[in-house]
Amino acid sequence: MTFSLHGQAVSGGIAIGRAHLVSHAMLEVAQYQLRERDVAGELMRFDRAVATASAELGSLRSEASVPGAPAELSAFVDLHAMILADPVLTDGVRELIRERRCNAEWAMVQQMQQVVDQFDEFEDAYLRERKQDIVQVVERVLRVLQGKARKLARRKVAAVDDDLIVVANDLSPADTIQFKSLKIGGFVTDLGGATSHTAIVARSLAIPAVVGMQHARSLIQDDDLLIVDGTRGVLIVDPATGVLDEYRLRRTELQLDRSKLKRLVTGRSRTLDGEDVELHANIELPQDAERAKEVGADGVGLFRTEFLFMNRDELPDEDEQFEAYRSVVKTLGDKLVTIRTLDIGAEKEARALRNRAGNRSAPNPALGLRAIRFCLAEPQLFLVQLRAILRASHYGRIRLLVPMLAHAQEIEQTLALIELAKLQLRESRHKFSTVEVGGMIEIPAAALSLGPFLRRLDFLSIGTNDLIQYTLAIDRTDGSVAHLYDPLHPAVLKLISQTIQSAQRVGMPVAVCGEMAGDPKLTKLLLGMGLRQFSMHPSQLLEVKQQVMMADATQLAIRVARILKLDEPDKISEQVEKL
Ligand code: PEP
Ligand code: MG
Repeated sequence: MTFSLHGQAVSGGIAIGRAHLVSHAMLEVAQYQLRERDVAGELMRFDRAVATASAELGSLRSEASVPGAPAELSAFVDLHAMILADPVLTDGVRELIRERRCNAEWAMVQQMQQVVDQFDEFEDAYLRERKQDIVQVVERVLRVLQGKARKLARRKVAAVDDDLIVVANDLSPADTIQFKSLKIGGFVTDLGGATSHTAIVARSLAIPAVVGMQHARSLIQDDDLLIVDGTRGVLIVDPATGVLDEYRLRRTELQLDRSKLKRLVTGRSRTLDGEDVELHANIELPQDAERAKEVGADGVGLFRTEFLFMNRDELPDEDEQFEAYRSVVKTLGDKLVTIRTLDIGAEKEARALRNRAGNRSAPNPALGLRAIRFCLAEPQLFLVQLRAILRASHYGRIRLLVPMLAHAQEIEQTLALIELAKLQLRESRHKFSTVEVGGMIEIPAAALSLGPFLRRLDFLSIGTNDLIQYTLAIDRTDGSVAHLYDPLHPAVLKLISQTIQSAQRVGMPVAVCGEMAGDPKLTKLLLGMGLRQFSMHPSQLLEVKQQVMMADATQLAIRVARILKLDEPDKISEQVEKL
């Protein structure tokens, strides 16, 4: 039966393909008693399921060894294979099937419960967290038992027309970043907001995504044919042939539009009246730098380094971080690379820091111990990163960007730690070059009280994602208030334009690196505010460049000044559209 669902459009484009439910298979487990004569058959069914799950892990392992796949992927696959091979899990299940005549699924869930209960008792946080891996392994076997084995590896080579579309209740940024190594055509989730990091990663992957669908996970079945319209925020399930044809055509048109945009790669990013506008790239992982180069970015305006810390049990040490930063610098050649220091906490969780950085279980995670607050509370960990960034500066042009600053003393402490890192490097005879230090303006207090930023730092970068979240008190990850998350709210526009003006008055470089910078519908508004440095995902850069090339900056300044005087949201969006 065909039906459609609506949610928040977070990453444009069209994906057509089969649903892959990322499920909590546990919720669907049947429970029944076997007849004595069926026990042997059930044991065989269980053993076959374990063998299939283990083969799935085997093919995932070969995928994980492909160059460019994240290192943490193979560690996670190995760990899961080890858990699956451990008789503590499987022998217990066999015993339950034999002794209690439970069906295999139910026996598996019971045995898992016993094992994870023991894990809860562990003092050691690392061991306690392995519980999650056991649950995932059990889910894998359950999916096979329930006849829902999905082979991502096989899908990877499927025809273009047969995208794999992930359907989940929720995805963490850590889950989503793994899609970089698996060929996922698109995804939809029931929870989430437009500027959650999950959505941001989707845009960086340039795959269509819709979040906040509410009921997709319960209404869709594995292998259902889906159309994801990531531009309009629509999901069509089991579409009629006519609709499917229409969307296929639309998808081809979009692909054509994208390839036409490629002509702009070498063009100069300059307005009609001759204003040069720098377009930089936002990246999450070192391998994204290649894409930044392909689209002709002027540099990297935001390297979200926290993604290097995710999906792993150990923190990356100084050498590993240094290599990651150096590889980006090398890819970019003589272009500027802006490396943001660790912005962990809130929804950006790292297993290895779970009990240290304020995470989702903190009382108010977005207001908790995240970003620079966390780094200043953990100076040793921060120094490791600062030394790694400074060392990489010897190989190219690096700037250091500090997230979530609000207080003058945070600026002072950060600068003092940077000096300490330099001292340590001199002592250990490591080379480094001059590195400018900038601050993110993403807390309203910072935007309203720029003095210390202008006096003590070298550049500013406006993080509109958090600036909107904190100005409007709207959790950017919460779908239930997503309709109130408004980049065009007059208060938000005031903070952005005042920051740009204040920086320009003292000749300080200022950029916008939040999602507003990558939205071509807002390019002219930002140009009219005087912005000349934008940073966005590589996938958005050429569309924004096209807008720049069609803009008259002098005219826009006059028109945007008028818009900034308005305080009625409807009028503001009407006027912005007319730009
Ligand atoms: C922002 O807040 O706008 C930003 C660029 O940082 P992040 O999205 O990583 O919080
Ligand atoms: Mg931010």
